[in-house]
Amino acid sequence: ATPTALMVGTGRGAQLGILIKGPEVLESTRQVDAVVLDKTGTVTTGQMTLADVVPAPGEDRDEVLRVAAALEHGSEHPIARAIVTGAEESGLELAAVEGFTNVEGLGVQGVVTTSDGESHAVVVGRPQLLADWALPLGPELEATLVQARGTGATPVAVGWDGKARGVLVVSDSVKPSSAQAIQRLRDLGLTPYLLTGDNAEAARTVADQVGIDPANVIADVLPADKVNVVARLQAEGKVVAMVGDGVNDAAALATADLGMAMGTGTDVAIEASDLTLVRGDLRVAPDAIRLARRTLSTIK
Ligand code: ADP
Ligand code: MG
Repeated sequence: ATPTALMVGTGRGAQLGILIKGPEVLESTRQVDAVVLDKTGTVTTGQMTLADVVPAPGEDRDEVLRVAAALEHGSEHPIARAIVTGAEESGLELAAVEGFTNVEGLGVQGVVTTSDGESHAVVVGRPQLLADWALPLGPELEATLVQARGTGATPVAVGWDGKARGVLVVSDSVKPSSAQAIQRLRDLGLTPYLLTGDNAEAARTVADQVGIDPANVIADVLPADKVNVVARLQAEGKVVAMVGDGVNDAAALATADLGMAMGTGTDVAIEASDLTLVRGDLRVAPDAIRLARRTLSTIK
């Protein structure tokens, strides 16, 4: 490979909106055969909205929302932003928070003062997180989970003092360009996978909308395990590209043969990647692969 041709390829990439870390990246780009796509913020807009607040029997809707939003105020997760905005739109004053911890890929916890002036250890996050903390959901909220997941939404549970107090239903939408981008990846002979920490039904709903085989949907994956999914595909002999935007994608992006970060994503994801899709348009991922193939075939 002549350095000049590689430099030209890199320059052409910049014109297309692809920032390439070094000319040698084009070589791994050319060989990719599997593309692992993060769901939230990569295939979907990541601009989540609060679709519903369902209090547990005997609980107050506004109280559940103002307590959850108070804790989520400390998180930068798209789910957190949706909940805080939802509380603001309902005109609620957020509850006072004393302690706050982010539980990466699971939710948030902390000490919050409820309307009656008492302080409680509160958990907001994946329904499984509440179950693990011995805050049972009860049959009514369990039914809400099933219903929310059936629509492709993400249910977030809120609990304190021995029980779940409600479920917040958060929804996201697929980017208009995602289906086309994934079709173009297929046209290049690549196999797309969808990888997410979100629930399997929400993941399958998105996969359906963008044309990813349900067999290639990998859901309920904890942030620390995303990298293992990439390693497993590599162990099967695949050359793996990963596309992601979040802090939770960084290890997987670094381990993939080709890490592609959304330019709209976090700095951590961008630093871990070999190339950046500057405008966050997924259609630029197939452009990058086509560019690498073309650049290197003129060299050979
Ligand atoms: P993704 O892989 O789609 O980017 P994450 O790994 O960031 O998703 O999150 C996985 C799941 O963890 C979310 O679907 C949600 O259920 C839960 N979760 C993560 N952070 C929060 C938070 N701040 N508040 C509530 N739930 C959260
Ligand atoms: Mg993401």
